[in-house]
Amino acid sequence: MNTIIDTNSAETARAFIGKIHKAFIGGEWVAAADGATFTTRDPGTNAPLAEVPSMGAADVDRAVQAAAKAFRSSGWAEMPANERGVLLHRLAEEVEKHKAVLAHIEATDAGKILAQAEGDVQNFVDTLRYFIGISLNVQHRTPLAVRGHEATTVRLPWGPCGFIVPWNFPFLLIGWNISPALAAGNTVVIKPAEDTPLSALYLGVLAERVGIPAGVINVVTGYGETAGAALAAHPGLKRMSFTGSPEVGRLVAGACALNLIPAKLELGGKGAAVVFDDVDIDDTATRLAGAITFHTGQVCCDATRWLVHRPIYDKFVSRCVERMKSVVVGYQLDPASQMGPVVSAKQRERVLGYLERGKTEGAEWVLPGGPATVAGRDGFYVKPALMAGTLKNVAAREEIFGPVAYLTPFDDEAQAIAMANDTDYGLANSVWSTDLDRARRVAERMIAGNSWINAHNVFPHGVPYAGINKSGMGGGVLSFETFLDYTRGLSVVRPL
Ligand code: NAD
Repeated sequence: MNTIIDTNSAETARAFIGKIHKAFIGGEWVAAADGATFTTRDPGTNAPLAEVPSMGAADVDRAVQAAAKAFRSSGWAEMPANERGVLLHRLAEEVEKHKAVLAHIEATDAGKILAQAEGDVQNFVDTLRYFIGISLNVQHRTPLAVRGHEATTVRLPWGPCGFIVPWNFPFLLIGWNISPALAAGNTVVIKPAEDTPLSALYLGVLAERVGIPAGVINVVTGYGETAGAALAAHPGLKRMSFTGSPEVGRLVAGACALNLIPAKLELGGKGAAVVFDDVDIDDTATRLAGAITFHTGQVCCDATRWLVHRPIYDKFVSRCVERMKSVVVGYQLDPASQMGPVVSAKQRERVLGYLERGKTEGAEWVLPGGPATVAGRDGFYVKPALMAGTLKNVAAREEIFGPVAYLTPFDDEAQAIAMANDTDYGLANSVWSTDLDRARRVAERMIAGNSWINAHNVFPHGVPYAGINKSGMGGGVLSFETFLDYTRGLSVVRPL
């Protein structure tokens, strides 16, 4: 059993990080069945942070069985929404009280700037509260006007749901994913990414503390190929939600399909920002540079292709270079840092590899980027980079997942739309113009799940956020419809 005394300190976070970790299954803290562990590292120093259970199929089966048992017999599924809401509100409050501790854990484990990690934790709290609100107000029983019959539809929870999440927004994405499921009365099994398992385990501590019934929230740690694959293939789940790369998304959807389990996929992106010649150049350059360096560019919906109206192209590019050059790269817990490391050595190799491949295919290095050094820290740092050239270039087509943007000029609206839509992905794009009619017109022609106007990375609760094509399927997150996804409809009919 984990004990946390102080709710507000880095020492508490460090004490948690340094303990012997166990996974959270059926209300108990357990090691992997075979005793295996793996090491999670601090991306800012490459120092080992913690040993965490490396779980496999037997452990995943135990977790799904625990979630199924809790669904059948803990009372969670049948609880009136307001009673369940009381328990979930307690969890939201507890997370909020522990915001500083959780943010420290998340920042250290994921390489995230501390203030941004705090924002992620608050977002978890807000998401949970948003879905509790829906669960209290949604119509659970709907009478139907049908001649000669008394008929109703009833909304019920599905059962145990599986969640596989990535390392870029570990805690925030757990919130986006499990909140609608829990509020609707389902039970959950979470498989955090192997690079960032710690905040999910801390959630287990808080869930236990506030009295969420045993087995309602389970956290199984381990590698994707073992724990993740076992969860995706488990026939005992009723729904799966996967957030991560399209390559793994295909495997997860395939495994779920064999068991006829619906899978929601939130995958990668290669978003465009379409910048017209009537914008405030300084302001737009500042905001796009801010977006691509936010969390070191490891953001699925980032604007990575900057399509710029030719009359302002040169001036816009030079402003972007100034802004990107001035970003302070540093250790994620150092208050002076504006951009931390990428999550792992593998991810740094990926980013640097795309810079080289892009150049080999003829792209210009407008701002070269490359490895960055931070005094006294042997972490995975890279510099912001800007490339330019044709959109056929590999760096303009594939997801890099680092602080790298690709610039291309366009001549007119139709060309800009065609360029933005010339991608296999379909997650999020933005349009920048003071002509709001034009901005809306262009925004509505985008082949993607999300179009933003004069902003990038915008996620108000209540607006569906989803990808299409290679960016996802299954309806997305963050909206009323997401709540409905976690309920099954049952029709009840009596001939009169
Ligand atoms: P990833 O696909 O490598 O891993 C994601 C998760 O899947 C991890 O928990 C991992 O352990 C697990 N996994 C790996 N192999 C598996 C397998 N064979 N079976 C089951 N699970 C397996 O992705 P990543 O590198 O962690 O995250 C980056 C990707 O996530 C990017 O493509 C990014 O765009 C995407 N992403 C999308 C969204 C969105 O909302 N659309 C949000 C965040 C990240």
